[in-house]
Amino acid sequence: MGDVKILLDGNEVSGRDGMTILDVAQQEGVEIPTLCHSPDLSPAGVCRVCVVEVEGARALVGSCHTQIAAGMVVLTRSAKVLAARRAAVELMLADHTGPCLTDANAKNCLLHRLASDAQVGAPRFQVRRPRYYPKEDSNPYVGRDLSKCILCRLCTRACDEIAGKGVLAVGYRGFRSKIVADFDEPLQTEVCRDCGVCIDYCPTGALFKPSSEPARSSSRDGRQEP
Ligand code: SF4
Repeated sequence: MGDVKILLDGNEVSGRDGMTILDVAQQEGVEIPTLCHSPDLSPAGVCRVCVVEVEGARALVGSCHTQIAAGMVVLTRSAKVLAARRAAVELMLADHTGPCLTDANAKNCLLHRLASDAQVGAPRFQVRRPRYYPKEDSNPYVGRDLSKCILCRLCTRACDEIAGKGVLAVGYRGFRSKIVADFDEPLQTEVCRDCGVCIDYCPTGALFKPSSEPARSSSRDGRQEP
């Protein structure tokens, strides 16, 4: 495990072999926004919010899953990076309207907070067929409002890697993609019981505890805190 020196926004910094650009940025106090990332889980690199510019790379790279290499030159806030992050947020927001716009809990939605930070207004992109799913709250352990889901896959990874259950997965393809339990079983069946780990990791409130318990506040990375 040797030291790997890179240039991060013009400053020489070093990290250990195997660290990602995001790891090193966080170590150095350089903020890179994330949405589908959790330090507890394997990186998925699906949201594109944490992209950075790496000299010589053909395209922007996801900092959450790109490991550092000696001599790497990284820009975390170039005009190209900021435009790409903003577009990524706008695209997700365009498909994340519906109840969230009027929901009092929208302030707990990490996507809305990122949109606010990036000063993203009304989405420029029109979704041809907005995804709308009825809210499901008949399971006493976990409720689902998939109209708020951004397919970040935090819940599926938490279900696999932390709960060790492998109940949740992304089902179907393209526009029909959605988070399913087992073989797209209704939630009121016994497929999902009381671990609630997926709820803790959902950044948008698409998964929630359907009880009269007081709402738990959200941490900066979107996880719910007790
Ligand atoms: S349900 Fe929540 S955690 Fe799961 S993919 Fe959708 S937004 Fe992400």
